[in-house]
Amino acid sequence: MTAMLLTPAATEDLVAENERLLQLDQMKDELISMVSHELRTPLTSIVGYLEMLTGPEAEPLTEQQTRFLGIISRSAERLLSLISDLLMMAQVDSDGVKLEQDQIDLGALVEECVASMQPIAASRKVSLFAAIHTVQVCGDRRLLAEVVDNLLSNALKFTLEHGSVFVSVGDLGESACVEVRDTGIGIPAEEREQLFTRFYRSRTAVERAVQGTGLGLSIVKAIVDAHNGAIEVESEVGRGSTFRVVLPVVGGK
Ligand code: ADP
Repeated sequence: MTAMLLTPAATEDLVAENERLLQLDQMKDELISMVSHELRTPLTSIVGYLEMLTGPEAEPLTEQQTRFLGIISRSAERLLSLISDLLMMAQVDSDGVKLEQDQIDLGALVEECVASMQPIAASRKVSLFAAIHTVQVCGDRRLLAEVVDNLLSNALKFTLEHGSVFVSVGDLGESACVEVRDTGIGIPAEEREQLFTRFYRSRTAVERAVQGTGLGLSIVKAIVDAHNGAIEVESEVGRGSTFRVVLPVVGGK
């Protein structure tokens, strides 16, 4: 193989280009920090005050005021979730995912996620069931909760009224398995490969105007990969989907 010799001018260009890229990377970090503080903080305050306006201590409201506040509230929640997705994406994107190494009872973690989703399931008239085994894994508690929350929220979002979502945690010996199964709209075979691509949203999701950014599953995959795990999906259009995450257990090979 012949080595390519760079002229001093070309070397200088490369150094300058490298410097520019480093600066851009730093600007990206600053932007993320700006988004985090300058957008999230006031939005959280808007959501808080909205809750006060509609809470038990509040003055009685007219029907119209209640309706308008409901619309403001849903829009604010949607913005908050978009900002959280963008921040999470930036976090899992910047030179690999940085993981805490907690010892975690995966069953208990999933149980907490399921409990916090029950009100959303009830509001969508979808039954949410769980069958949980205790199994220990090593990893980042907050990020693994993010994985489960994302899969649960998708399952609830894409399941019609009176449908069901089943969540299970199993001990497979050397690995632990979290499965989120729904009786929802399903995903066509030709779309399944792209699910984990950033910003990808299926045709059905767009047509049905289901809210979302198309970031959730790419975040999920980055977190699962960082834990040396794997994720797979099975689905049948009109019958439902199953997302399965497999993670190495503590003490496993
Ligand atoms: P978002 O939900 O924000 O659109 P995701 O990355 O979480 O983004 O999901 C990407 C796409 O995968 C969704 O738009 C949807 O089309 C499809 N999808 C994900 N989970 C399910 C599910 N449980 N049932 C049907 N489609 C799903």
